[in-house]
Amino acid sequence: MFQGISAIEFSKMFVDNESCYNYLIDLKWGKGYQCSRCGNTEHMKGRTWYYRRCKKCLYDESVTANTVFHGMKMPVLKAFHIIFRVTTKKKGMSTVELGTEVYVQQKTAWLFKRKIQSVMKDKSLLQGSVEVDETIIGGYRAGSENKGRSLKDKAAVVVAIEALGGDKTGNINFEVIENFKADTLEVALTDLIAPDTYIQTDKHAAYEALKEKFPIATKVSNKGEAFPEIHKQIMLFKNWLRGIHHKCSSTHLHAYLDEYKYRFNKRNMRKWIFNDIMQRLMNSEPRPYSILSALCAYST
Ligand SMILES: [Zn+2]
Repeated sequence: MFQGISAIEFSKMFVDNESCYNYLIDLKWGKGYQCSRCGNTEHMKGRTWYYRRCKKCLYDESVTANTVFHGMKMPVLKAFHIIFRVTTKKKGMSTVELGTEVYVQQKTAWLFKRKIQSVMKDKSLLQGSVEVDETIIGGYRAGSENKGRSLKDKAAVVVAIEALGGDKTGNINFEVIENFKADTLEVALTDLIAPDTYIQTDKHAAYEALKEKFPIATKVSNKGEAFPEIHKQIMLFKNWLRGIHHKCSSTHLHAYLDEYKYRFNKRNMRKWIFNDIMQRLMNSEPRPYSILSALCAYST
């Protein structure tokens, strides 16, 4: 198993569907086999070389069962190419470019890219000292930028970022919100930031109202000048959305926020991203056995 991967290594390792399946076998059963149906750990040969049959319940399981690769019409090698491009390019890729480079229809690339984005989700909370601000992100449809202040076609987003002192920045976190009321912001802060974290934000009336519940310090934003790092990140996110993806409806905005956040928070470990995403894709569909055992644990 490699630690990081370059384009040359990638093209040497993955030459056909078979080499991709071998890699998936290593990810799924490399540390030992366990039956997805009954939890038994002994197996015999399955119907093909990438199947394993449980010795106890005889369930014959493919390496792709209970993973996002299951039932996929696109050849697995093409899926690997998409994952490699999405995970190793510093800014990712649009599905139009992906479709052209990997020779699949844009819709196929888009659907698979959504699966990659869905495993990029990360619920860990920010800690230490955090700056918070809000921004409005347009739907980027023609003309939508000029249609007044209604949130129709646009989305409000709370942005939070760890300030490590000096110019240093830690992790970033986002949440799409429906309005700027204190109740809404309270939920967002709870979702984004660990309890008792010191929060700095602008003098928005709603934040003043939350001072009893969170350790919040407010200062005059002065059009963002008081919070340069967070405003830089908001700009970068908007440019990334426009530059790479051209448009994004508010329905899918959260997926792009997840992707941006994942990339930003893993910016110092870019080499490991391919492996990390692969592991997440293999574990993203709940296996029947883990659901069963969770249910049993719940009922006792
Ligand atoms: Zn079994």
